[in-house]
Amino acid sequence: MEVGLESTVDELERKLAGHANGFQRLALTPSRWQQYLLDRASQDADFRVRLLRFVDVLPTLRTPSAVADHFSQYLGGSGPAPVRTASALAGQRVLRPLLSQAVRKGVLTMAHRFIAGASPAEALPAVRHLAKHGVGHTVDLVGEATLSDAEAEAYQARYLTLLQTFAADSESIAPRGERWRGVPPINISIKCSAVCPHFEPAAPEHVSAVVAARLRPVLRQARQAGAFINFDMEQYRYKDLVQRIFGDLILEPEFADVADVGIVVQAYLKDAPDDLSRLEALARRRGVPFTVRLVKGAYWDEERIVASQNSWPVPVFEDKAETDRSFERCTDALLGAWPHLRPAFGTHNPRSLAQAIAKARAAGRGDADIEFQMLYGMAEGVRAAVAAEGYRTRVYVPVGEIIPGMAYLVRRLLENSSNQAWFHTGLGHAAPTAALQPKVEERPTQVDSGFKNASAARFFDPDVREQMLTALAKVRGSFGGSYPLLIGERRVSDRPQAEVRYPAQPETVVGQVAQASLADVDAAVASARQGFPSWRDRPAAERAAILRRAAERLEERRYELAAVMLFESGKPWREADSDVSEAIDYLRYYGQEAERYAQPKPMGAVLGEHNEYVYQARGVAVIVAPWNFPLAIISGMSTAALAAGNAAILKPAGPSPIIAYRLVEVLRAAGVPPEVVQYLPGMGEGVGRALVEHPGIDIIAFTGSTAVGQSIIAAAAEVRPGQRNVKRVIAEMGGKNAIIIDDDADLDEAIAGAVASAFGYAGQKCSACSRLVVVGSAYEEALERLRNAVASLVVGPPHDPATVVPPVINAAARDKIMRYIETGKRTSRLLVEGTIPSGAGHYVPPTVFTDVPVDSPIACEEIFGPVLAVFRAHDFDEAMEIAAASSFALTGGVFSRSPRHIELAKAKFRVGNLYINRKITGAIVGRQPFGGLAMSGTGDKAGGPDYLAQFMEPRVVTENATRRGFAPD
Ligand code: NAD
Repeated sequence: MEVGLESTVDELERKLAGHANGFQRLALTPSRWQQYLLDRASQDADFRVRLLRFVDVLPTLRTPSAVADHFSQYLGGSGPAPVRTASALAGQRVLRPLLSQAVRKGVLTMAHRFIAGASPAEALPAVRHLAKHGVGHTVDLVGEATLSDAEAEAYQARYLTLLQTFAADSESIAPRGERWRGVPPINISIKCSAVCPHFEPAAPEHVSAVVAARLRPVLRQARQAGAFINFDMEQYRYKDLVQRIFGDLILEPEFADVADVGIVVQAYLKDAPDDLSRLEALARRRGVPFTVRLVKGAYWDEERIVASQNSWPVPVFEDKAETDRSFERCTDALLGAWPHLRPAFGTHNPRSLAQAIAKARAAGRGDADIEFQMLYGMAEGVRAAVAAEGYRTRVYVPVGEIIPGMAYLVRRLLENSSNQAWFHTGLGHAAPTAALQPKVEERPTQVDSGFKNASAARFFDPDVREQMLTALAKVRGSFGGSYPLLIGERRVSDRPQAEVRYPAQPETVVGQVAQASLADVDAAVASARQGFPSWRDRPAAERAAILRRAAERLEERRYELAAVMLFESGKPWREADSDVSEAIDYLRYYGQEAERYAQPKPMGAVLGEHNEYVYQARGVAVIVAPWNFPLAIISGMSTAALAAGNAAILKPAGPSPIIAYRLVEVLRAAGVPPEVVQYLPGMGEGVGRALVEHPGIDIIAFTGSTAVGQSIIAAAAEVRPGQRNVKRVIAEMGGKNAIIIDDDADLDEAIAGAVASAFGYAGQKCSACSRLVVVGSAYEEALERLRNAVASLVVGPPHDPATVVPPVINAAARDKIMRYIETGKRTSRLLVEGTIPSGAGHYVPPTVFTDVPVDSPIACEEIFGPVLAVFRAHDFDEAMEIAAASSFALTGGVFSRSPRHIELAKAKFRVGNLYINRKITGAIVGRQPFGGLAMSGTGDKAGGPDYLAQFMEPRVVTENATRRGFAPD
């Protein structure tokens, strides 16, 4: 920046900050109590989290004793003295209603500082008040997450009502004066995700069409009412999608001449300059300008969390000062895009404001050419100071019911109570801070476990989508190909062939696969026995290096492999992609584990004796895999065997042999000798059984149904002629998993989590939720939202990225599941049955039953399809009993905001993998080691620290180091 400009900025900043300081108390008149709590919260991070969590759960607490109970759970014991006293009072039943009333009132008053009213009509006085003081508004309708078409339509209706209500009052809500001339009297900020239940960035065409259909009436009415519509920006993964929807809509002939629209650019994003140039290009192309509101961004914490959990690069600047500098660079670009883009600046930061004003003036922009926007209930002093400079100021006014608006309130409170928010640090501060960006606390982005997961595909990126489309085309091109057996060096094709067909288009043959004979079993086992010793004797580090190389090859071919699974096993885009990521993780994780196990462990510490605990490979492993995680599971089981030094014979499931063939190709190309990894597809009852019973086999790694697992365990127990080892069986089996929704659960999250767990990949996951237990007072609302959400699920072919529920694997599976549905209709109450596409494809409608007898087949048996049974529990204890009433114990979930119930679930909900406040599918290697108990499996966790030990046998070597009474140290 030029020296002259810099000093103007400094001067302006001081002026704004100084002016603002005087206003601070006046504008934000929190009660003494609120101020006290916020002060304490800003000083004490632990109390802050507990206070905010309590505020977050409060709206769902339906009785005084629930309020009192949660108050003491969150705030009892520690925290400031008055809070401790209140918590002690909560213990006395007679005082509970009083406490509950006081707490609710306090939080409501606090909420009203940030939320202008429950409805547009209720918000009118606040908006009129702003107008009277020369301040504009932009209304944001806050509410629940949109989980269904019914909820999307309700949102659309709310936007229309808002426009209608405000239009009837447009005189009184429009600020007057020169700077407001020609400015629309009504201003609304909309969120695209509010009008589309499946806001899926991988399917921009689909989402854009759904959103456009719901927003066209809003835009039409806005034009009639003289209203400005701003498209708000949400999380980074939706950014391109929102830009795309905005572009599609404003280029439509009907709206191509509308100038009263705008969109947001978030300066905390590293991509922000690209966003601005893309939007400028859009405006130039359209020939009619629109507004860009430049903000810093409100999802900073969430962006870091999402990036960390998906192993993505962090899209936001992590250093706050960088965001401030980015805001300044974006200011230059935005002002430079005049007259195509109309600038609006959304910040409370005196320095950021000062530089925008100084640069706008230097660029010759008049006072009316730009405007400044602030948040309702915050920064009134700064706003007044900017207005005093002659600029239009506009306040972002949230409107909506307090209960659903609570998420918004918690975010605002977080900003207000974070250590660096200028609310507390004062405004004349030398290093200005952004109120919109909470403090960067010293938290690592990824907790270092020494292992890094493969990243999930960023399908929101058009280049990535393009790569997936190319891969789909490539795999389509290979349809009908033949896949031989791989026995040692031999490729064996002259065997009966089995066809693999695409579940969405059963007439399409994906490939033909040779079926192994019993003689092939003998040949493969002989070859494996021959290859085993030299593989066992190679250093673990060498084997690990080969597996890492294979992981790289999988990574390079990830979209192609995902496409194979999409056609072979009917896996939609994201599901297929995470299957590949999981496979890559297994290769790297077990390689690393093999190196760890290879270190001899000294035992005991006595003089004159050396004890070493070492592991060695067991021998030849047969890998019997299921079709539903067709790459991940077979990779996991076989690479654990290989990493530990065993030879492996892969027996894929009937429906998914092609992806297994590709895996063996990759492993061999990476350096695993052909005798050490072999491919033997065939019938389970034929080849599978022969391998299991073969005397030359030492380990059976099986994942599949409980019935088959139990028969394998029995078959392996028998010792046959020529057998030298007792066989080790590793069996991961079925599930009948339950999720509990507690009466204080956040239903936005609980319903979304239950639906994803029950219906993702049509429920064909061992971890899927097939029983939902809802506690007491949450029941009616939970069921209503569940019914609508299930009715809105997109059922379709997996090649369509919008699909959530694909067809099931084959006709036999469909018929079996349909029989369960028929039984359910006879024995229970049908809550909802989704619709399925017409034509071929093994589709099953997503179906939910209530009033399910606890001993009926749909309550007890693994259905392995999109069928969910719902139970009602009176309280949490009963919910736990219902959830535990199963012979399976694989996964389980609890949605609750009661710390006590969460602790209870941790202690007593005895499943292999318990998930709290999240979906119960999607375990990740090294983070959620996976495997079930009871009839769900033998319990050792895949992707966990004990897994590899099952493929090895330990030996102990003891050496007497004493010679003639003397031993070295
Ligand atoms: P499945 O039991 O029918 O088949 C699994 C494998 O066993 C296949 O390769 C099959 O050919 C083979 N097989 C069948 N009969 C055999 C026999 N007598 N001897 C040897 N092998 C035989 O299971 P599936 O339909 O492929 O997969 C779905 C099942 O897998 C579900 O029950 C699901 O819960 C379970 N599963 C469990 C996990 C887990 O980690 N616990 C993971 C995925 C799937």
